[in-house]
Amino acid sequence: MLTDNITRDGNGNLFFANHNVAELAQQYGTPLYLMDEERIRGNCRMYLRAFAECFGTQALPLYASKANSFKQIYRIMKEEGMGVDTVSLGEIHTALEAGFPADRIFYHGDGKTEAEIAAALDRRVGYFIVDNETELRRVDCGARNRGMVQKVLLRVTPGIDPHTYEAVNTGSVDVKFGLPIETGQAMAFYRQALSCPGIEVRGLHCHVGSQVFDEDVFERTIDIMVQFMAQVKRELGHEVKELNLGGGYGVRYLDTDKPIDIPARIRVLSDHLKQRCREEEIALPFFLLEPGRSIVADAGMTVYTVSSVKNIPGYKKYVTVDGGMGDNPRYCLYKSPYTVLHASKKCEGGEQFDLVGRCCESGDIIQPRVCLPGDTCPGDRIAVCTTGAYNYSMASNYNRFGRPPIVMLTPEKSYLAVRRETIEDVCSHDI
Ligand SMILES: *Cc1c(COP(=O)(O)O)cnc(C)c1O
Repeated sequence: MLTDNITRDGNGNLFFANHNVAELAQQYGTPLYLMDEERIRGNCRMYLRAFAECFGTQALPLYASKANSFKQIYRIMKEEGMGVDTVSLGEIHTALEAGFPADRIFYHGDGKTEAEIAAALDRRVGYFIVDNETELRRVDCGARNRGMVQKVLLRVTPGIDPHTYEAVNTGSVDVKFGLPIETGQAMAFYRQALSCPGIEVRGLHCHVGSQVFDEDVFERTIDIMVQFMAQVKRELGHEVKELNLGGGYGVRYLDTDKPIDIPARIRVLSDHLKQRCREEEIALPFFLLEPGRSIVADAGMTVYTVSSVKNIPGYKKYVTVDGGMGDNPRYCLYKSPYTVLHASKKCEGGEQFDLVGRCCESGDIIQPRVCLPGDTCPGDRIAVCTTGAYNYSMASNYNRFGRPPIVMLTPEKSYLAVRRETIEDVCSHDI
């Protein structure tokens, strides 16, 4: 199986985190998001342990909560001792409502409005990750008006091509995020930040991309960032105390994807960072990463019920389910691959189907060319694996379908973390 939290018994019944998938579908209804809580915690601990081994107390992993944001996940992050990275007041509010400590919230985004900046200052978020000069002025002004000094990291772009999809490549010079080192804008930005009395410049942030598999992407990023840190020290006399290299480690969606040993990568990365800092004669900064996908993706599974099966002779066969692009837009957006499994039968002697959704859109494809048992029929349950990241958080009400619930799985029990949206919920804002 793709991950070790997915298993089948001798009768072909699919289990996720040791729970019978078809029984969960019966109990909670479909479409249904399942989350393996132990896996989420295990992934956090993998980062926390690797950070402690490599950096002692001088590092903190932040969960990039845009990957999947709901109250219970922030409670788990608090219990595990993670920080969180947010991109909106909605995410910040959810985290605070869940009791997550404000000082470990990092606030991202390239389009923060004045009102949002004011609200986040009032909520005392730990850090702003400032994207541009307009935001810098607004944060400075807002902080001074409140008699505060706001900690910030400045977002810069190192000009790295992470060899990932265009839509998730964020480190190149010409992307919309941050200011480039290459053009000198990052240095001007830093200088300006140092002149702001309402701002405490703690350091730098960059994020080169997502679903990154290449070994050397983070090392190349470190080379450029450390060089820039040394330049900041020389030209501005300021020590960069914190370095946040963003998120991006890839996860396996298919059996053919190669696994990444994240703790090993972190060890290599930390050695490289320490060596480069020594060479440039700068102090080792407090180290931050913002993993999202690699914390939650393999902790998720989506379960559907087959609505209909259609054969167009000479062309293709379709399996249509009771969900689709509303709960998982990632194939539509990025042509993302997924592993699809029947919940009660192995696919021996299977046939090829396109797994499609119920939205009024011929592009509403969850995954083309999947192998399912030839006798798959209406009422059967279908599982899509590795949906813990960027599925619920990207879900929509297109066609006015409600979003599915999120059910958490522990070794002892299953429990509801987000309830199913009803038609009344969907209509609840209409006047
Ligand atoms: C999306 C994003 C992340 C998380 O990326 P993953 O690929 O999910 O690990 C972290 N930081 C920033 C700034 C991001 O935009």
